[in-house]
Amino acid sequence: MKIIFLGTGSASGIPTWSCNCSTCRLAKKGGKNNRSRPSLMVETGGKRLVIDTGPDFREQMLREDTRKINYALITHKHADHTASLYELKIGGKMELMIPKKVMAIYKKDFYSKGVFSFIKKRNPKIIIKNFKPFKFGKFKVDSVELKHEKDQKVRSFPCFGYVFEGKTFKFAYLSDFNKILEEDKVRNLDLLICDGNTMKQKKGHIGIINAIKLYKRIKPKRMLFTHINHDLPQHQKLEEYVKKYGNIGIAYDGMKIEVIE
Ligand SMILES: [Zn+2]
Ligand SMILES: [Zn+2]
Ligand SMILES: [Zn+2]
Repeated sequence: MKIIFLGTGSASGIPTWSCNCSTCRLAKKGGKNNRSRPSLMVETGGKRLVIDTGPDFREQMLREDTRKINYALITHKHADHTASLYELKIGGKMELMIPKKVMAIYKKDFYSKGVFSFIKKRNPKIIIKNFKPFKFGKFKVDSVELKHEKDQKVRSFPCFGYVFEGKTFKFAYLSDFNKILEEDKVRNLDLLICDGNTMKQKKGHIGIINAIKLYKRIKPKRMLFTHINHDLPQHQKLEEYVKKYGNIGIAYDGMKIEVIE
């Protein structure tokens, strides 16, 4: 199995076009500070899956020289994760899978006359369906319900992460949340890819400080932060900071992890 970080930036990406902060200025020179909008690709058994199709999806596919994907999973409706859904019309047969609670929002807004009908019209081979746990190569893929509303009492905006479990490796991708509602599903992880949008918890994001507490509680073997915002320290400094707390790192665009199955 291969895990490929397509995008590791926050909703505004780094550099953020309207900003001239030191991290954005540094990111303009390229390298690990340059981050496109959040997305992950997973390859196994000759099949390819992407999680989320944000505004930079096309550039990400071109960068990784990817011409075929078999599955696309969606975490939630925010535009930094879905703005390029219509791009799926390009390319061959594939399945677009969205958790039922998230799909309910799409049905209302998009299904009849919007994005989904457009995709289907242009590419009838695409299957759009509610997410159900499925076998992906030797891995079982399941969803993990998350809380992404800033108000802890409110439950109005469904959001999900995904967990991949094989015989020798288990990892979870939790990109936008401040609380895991199904924490039992993310125990015994070899790798946790975690929301690192901010340092302190802010709005719907857990914040790196609280995520380190989560790391100490659920004890994944390794943790990598993604969804990095430009107001955080630059890559190297941020990595030096999180490393002090364990086997924790900062993901970057194009980062690849090979897993022996
Ligand atoms: Zn996001
Ligand atoms: Zn900036
Ligand atoms: Zn979000």
